[in-house]
Amino acid sequence: MNILTRSLLPLAVCLAAALAGPAQAADILHAAGLVDVRTGKVLGPSSVRVEDGRITAVEAGHRPPAEGDAVIDLGSCTLLPGLMDMHVHLTSEYSARAELDRYKKREADVALDATVYAERTLLAGFTTVRDLGDSFLASLSLRDAINAGKVAGPRVFAAGKSIATTGGHADPTNGLSPVFASAVGDPGPVKGVCNGAAECAQAVRQRYKDGSDVIKITATGGVLSIARSGQAPQFQSGELEAIIATARDYGFTVAAHAHGTEGMKRAVLAGVNSIEHGTFMDDETMRLMKEKGTLYVPTISAGRWVFEKGQQPGFFPEVVRPKALSIGPQIQDTFARAYRAGVPIMFGTDCGVCEHGTNGREFAYMVEGGMPVMEAIQSATLVPARFLGVTDRLGSIEVGKLADIIAVPGDPTADVDLLGQVAFVMKDGRTYRNDCAALQ
Ligand SMILES: [Zn+2]
Repeated sequence: MNILTRSLLPLAVCLAAALAGPAQAADILHAAGLVDVRTGKVLGPSSVRVEDGRITAVEAGHRPPAEGDAVIDLGSCTLLPGLMDMHVHLTSEYSARAELDRYKKREADVALDATVYAERTLLAGFTTVRDLGDSFLASLSLRDAINAGKVAGPRVFAAGKSIATTGGHADPTNGLSPVFASAVGDPGPVKGVCNGAAECAQAVRQRYKDGSDVIKITATGGVLSIARSGQAPQFQSGELEAIIATARDYGFTVAAHAHGTEGMKRAVLAGVNSIEHGTFMDDETMRLMKEKGTLYVPTISAGRWVFEKGQQPGFFPEVVRPKALSIGPQIQDTFARAYRAGVPIMFGTDCGVCEHGTNGREFAYMVEGGMPVMEAIQSATLVPARFLGVTDRLGSIEVGKLADIIAVPGDPTADVDLLGQVAFVMKDGRTYRNDCAALQ
C-alpha cells in the first residue's frame, strides 16, 4: 500500500460509516445512581448514552443497548458530572526541595512535571481546572497539548504568569541573592511584575498576548513567597482599577489571591471576580462580596497542608514557617463564617501547594465547615460552569453536554469521603479510568 492510499483509508472508512445509516455506535453507562446537580437529588439506577463525546440520553433504569452499542457497567458506582477545581497550579508541586528546584529546574523539567500532575488531577475526577499561576508559561503549553489530545489531563483555563508588584507574592525574583538577582534583572510587566497603573495595564495586555484565559493577581502577601508579610496589601487601588479595566477590555475575569483584610477589600471594591484563600476576610468584606457577586474560592486544602508541614522543622524556609502556622489554620474557619454569611462559594484547592490528585479531600473540609455535601458538589460543578460561561457544555449530566462524567463507589451524599475515591473518569467521551467493575 503506498503512502497516499494508506492516508486516505481512514477517511474512506469514515465515509462508509457515515453513509451506512443513522445508528452510530455509542457507549451506554449503567450505574447504581446519578447525582443530578440541578435538582440537588441523587437518582437511582441510571443510564447515560454517550456518542461522539457528547451526552445523547439520560434515563432512569438500565437502558438495553442498541446494536453496536457498548455497555460500560459501573455496578454500584454513582455518576457525577466531571468535577471542576477553580484553583490549581499544574506546573509545580511544593516540597521541602522547592527552594532548590527554583535554581535547578529547566523549563522542560517544569513542563514534563506538569504532564504528570495533569494526569493525576484528571484521574482524581477533575475534568476541568483553572490554573492560577505558573512558571515559563508552561500551563498554556500544557492546556494546548491536552486540547490537542497529546497529553492526558483536565481542560485547563490558565492564567499563565500571575501579576504581582515588586517584592510581592509572585515576584519571581524574591529571595534571590544579589548575584542571581542582577543576572535575572528586574522582571517588569512582561514577566508579570508591575508598579503603577500604566505598567499594570501593560501586564494584563501581555497576558492577552501570551494567550492566557484569565488574569491572576496577588492582592496581598502570600505564605510561600520568600518575604516577611503574608498579609500586607500589595496593590494600590489605582493599580487594581487599571488591571480590572484592562481585563474587561479583553474579556478576562480577574482572580485575586488575598490573605490580609485591607488588600482583599481593595480588590473587591475594584471589581475582581473571585477572592482566593480570603484568610482574614472581615464581615464588611463579606457584605461587599455578596453585594457585588464576588466568588470566594477558599482553598482549605492548602491551608491545612501548609499548617501540617509548618510543624516539621526545616520543611519551609524560616521566613515562610510563621506565615504557614498563622494563616494555614485560619482558612477553614473563614470558610465556615463566609458560608454562614451567604458569600457565594466556588470550589478550589490550590493543589500544587497540596499534592495533585488529592483535590477531592476539599469536599470533606467544606462539609466540616458546615456546607451540605450537595452544595459542595454544586460548588465544583454548576457554580464554576456558570462562572466560566460554559453551562452549555459542562457542569451537569444533561443531553447535549460534553461527556465529562465521573463515578464514585457509592452515594457521596451519604459519605463525603467517596469524592476522594473517584473510580471512573470519562472526559470528552473517552474513558481514562474504570475501577468500578473491580469493586463489585
Ligand atoms: Zn495558588
